[in-house]
Amino acid sequence: MDFRLTPEQENFRCDIRAFLREALPEPPEIPEDSWLLGFDRAFSQRLAARGWIGLTWPQEYGGQGKSYLDRVVLTEELLRHGAPVAAHWLGDRQMGPSILRYGTPAQKATFLPKIIAGDLVFCIGMSEPGAGSDLAGLQTKAVEDGDAYVISGQKIWTSFAHLADYCYLVARTNPEVPKHKGISEFLVDMRTPGITIKPIVDMTGAHHFNEVFFDQVRIPKDCLVGEKDRGWYQIASQLDYERSGIERLMSNYGLLEAITRHVRATGEIRREVVRHTLAQLHIEWTMGRHLVYKVAWLLSQGIIPNAESATAKTYCTEFEQRLAQTASALMGGYGQLMPGSHRALLAGRVARAYLYAPAYTIQGGTSTILRNIMATRGLGLPPG
Ligand SMILES: Cc1cc2nc3c(=O)[nH]c(=O)nc-3n(C[C@H](O)[C@H](O)[C@H](O)COP(=O)(O)OP(=O)(O)OC[C@H]3O[C@@H](n4cnc5c(N)ncnc54)[C@H](O)[C@@H]3O)c2cc1C
Repeated sequence: MDFRLTPEQENFRCDIRAFLREALPEPPEIPEDSWLLGFDRAFSQRLAARGWIGLTWPQEYGGQGKSYLDRVVLTEELLRHGAPVAAHWLGDRQMGPSILRYGTPAQKATFLPKIIAGDLVFCIGMSEPGAGSDLAGLQTKAVEDGDAYVISGQKIWTSFAHLADYCYLVARTNPEVPKHKGISEFLVDMRTPGITIKPIVDMTGAHHFNEVFFDQVRIPKDCLVGEKDRGWYQIASQLDYERSGIERLMSNYGLLEAITRHVRATGEIRREVVRHTLAQLHIEWTMGRHLVYKVAWLLSQGIIPNAESATAKTYCTEFEQRLAQTASALMGGYGQLMPGSHRALLAGRVARAYLYAPAYTIQGGTSTILRNIMATRGLGLPPG
């Protein structure tokens, strides 16, 4: 097995680093979670100008036709630098590929050029108060009425709903059939009358997700993506893309570098327990990186990595939690002070990361659910 990338891919990595040095001469004060919190449309447009949004998409739709391994090199470098990539992240990772696969020619012509230009921000309207892990239990309904669908219901935990141009919405279109069989996907313009957004502030004090209410929201019928009532089967493959990216390993990568620098600078590194703890984290990070690269390699071979995505997401997000917990343990009391406190070590990044860390193993599917996927689809065990 040869783990090396090609010379072209290594050159690509150098190009990205050079671009980031120029575009972000001052690294962000808190580089963690930049794919969720670093929202900057202008930066996304600069990446778009380099052709770095839609990197894997076919050239006929404005993409570069590059492999998923090239994309993981790109996303790894962006997250390593804490680049503010949130504005285009969902469109590039998930909505663009979904439209490429299931969209009508008109949807492709309308949405793909805007996503690839960094001009279109998406949110994902899947989870509901009573439907998260059991997504098929969702209650938001889309009822046909003449030339429209009328949407009523509530979504929750909707990242970027307050900033998004469009919602990629999942709704029930047929209540008469088993729950997995009556679900459809829609592209909903967030300016449509009847949509109300209420912010949810997380434990760190940040606002990136929301509740979204749909009250008799009329959307044209051509907003349906793919086949009516077949949405569940479309979602399954979309989630494999959602779960498998290197953002599941690198959300708080900046912290690994920062605490490594810190214990070196303070001389703490001379203590054996500190050295071993850090070494363990770096080993786990490398293991996680290999899992993510394996998933990218499978995708580049045209294989949908179902159990492999679940494995990578579970291992990597649990590593992210251990990283936050270990950083907190290494920093002691001052590490618990939040950003803004003048005595907070590392500008409060440790405390913020510690409080945010529970989210990693929930967002995009909980570790419990992913272990079920590994057991049934990966190991062929019977469902529990
Ligand atoms: C930071 C963040 C951002 C998010 N962004 C979005 C977004 O943009 N759009 C969106 O639609 N959603 C989003 N979500 C929601 C996320 O997808 C859900 O929180 C997740 O799927 C879990 O659903 P739930 O919260 O309803 O928990 P539940 O499904 O109620 O689960 C509660 C607990 O029960 C366990 N459990 C549930 N079912 C089983 C089972 N069958 N077997 C064993 N254990 C089980 C779970 O593992 C979990 O520990 C976000 C969540 C977070 C934390």
